[in-house]
Amino acid sequence: MKIKADLERCVGAGMCALTLPQVFDQSEDDGTVEILDPEPPAELAAAVRRAVQLCPSGALSLDTTDAAESAEPIE
Ligand code: SF4
Repeated sequence: MKIKADLERCVGAGMCALTLPQVFDQSEDDGTVEILDPEPPAELAAAVRRAVQLCPSGALSLDTTDAAESAEPIE
């Protein structure tokens, strides 16, 4: 799993950083997302998916090249 962020779409709402601060932070300049760990460990996959779903602007996306990984249920 690889996390991608479109900074043109990010509105700095901070839901990602609130949901998963181990992986997401916000720029001190403009509040846009900073990805601390773009390829997080498998045990964080469900939390990463939740953070991506909660993003109000659709700025975050996942590149899941592993089919088994993408079949994991969402909590
Ligand atoms: S939740 Fe979405 S819009 Fe908000 S800071 Fe994170 S990426 Fe940006």
